[in-house]
Amino acid sequence: MRHFPTLISLSSSSQSAAISISGLTKVYRRRTGKTVEALKGIDLEVPRGSFFGLLGPNGAGKSTLINIVAGLTRKTAGRALICGHDIERDMRAARRSIGVVPQELVLDPFFPAREALEVHAGLYGVPKAERRTDELLEAVGLTAEAHTYARALSGGMRRRLMVAKALVHNPPVVVLDEPTAGVDVELRQQLWRYMRALNAKGTSIVLTTHYLEEAEALCDRIAIIDKGALIACEPTETLIARLDHKELHITATADLDGVPESLARFEPSFEPPRRLTLHYRRGEIGIDALLDAVRQAGVGIADLTTEESRLEDVFLHLTRRDGALQSNPGR
Ligand code: ADP
Ligand code: MG
Repeated sequence: MRHFPTLISLSSSSQSAAISISGLTKVYRRRTGKTVEALKGIDLEVPRGSFFGLLGPNGAGKSTLINIVAGLTRKTAGRALICGHDIERDMRAARRSIGVVPQELVLDPFFPAREALEVHAGLYGVPKAERRTDELLEAVGLTAEAHTYARALSGGMRRRLMVAKALVHNPPVVVLDEPTAGVDVELRQQLWRYMRALNAKGTSIVLTTHYLEEAEALCDRIAIIDKGALIACEPTETLIARLDHKELHITATADLDGVPESLARFEPSFEPPRRLTLHYRRGEIGIDALLDAVRQAGVGIADLTTEESRLEDVFLHLTRRDGALQSNPGR
């Protein structure tokens, strides 16, 4: 071992990451001459062995990021490493380290399922003796369709075949771009079971989705991007705790003229003449203190209910407020 302490610690940190991205930028140029900055200098680290969720609304830049890492789209600036391999300087090793299931399904319709996997394994130079074609077909529930042409498979079956294709070279990192969009519940669960099992055996998995609940159920870390910028990246539990939004619905004892000024900090909404909704976080104010604030504002309480915000709503809330969340990349 050579003794370059700083260098060694730098390189070992990027070696240990499944994916390591810094300053990643993508500018698309449309034919009209208009430009779209789809990624605005993203820094992101996916630890080895993690089940990582990349969340964001439609158009956030998720597919762009995934496609750059997969070598399907050229970046404008920045750097991306897969298991320490630079996607440009060390392209072959980088590609061998990753299996990607793109959002758009692309399959050659004239190959039967089994042959499609064999051909793909050949492209990756996987020796015949090391191929796991039948095992993969079984894992994705396509054993009975082994000899069916891709064009004759249902949408769900094609998606599963794409998953099997991404796995032929046994990559240490697997990326799935919105694999559950338009997929039925049963298949979704089957897919997740398989991904969990792969992850348990050490494969790093990155999943993009616009469903926070899906990411919450599967992922140990979640990053949120919006409009090409990272707005959060942390362990799932920490993020969920931070999204600790609750709503308090109050029916007042008397008609109200409007929302008392002193309650403005609870983002109130008023439904005349007596219904008031306040938003709060348990981590910031207890229900007792909140009710005191309501009484002090001169609002008598006839009835009240509280409600956890739906995660979907909270997510929209977070991404709508630019800069409201500070990102903690790599933490
Ligand atoms: P997501 O996957 O999060 O929905 P995308 O990465 O697909 O987001 O898109 C991010 C932004 O880049 C969007 O504004 C989208 O319209 C734009 N975009 C994506 N692909 C292209 C392309 N090939 N040419 C021009 N603009 C694109
Ligand atoms: Mg997408």
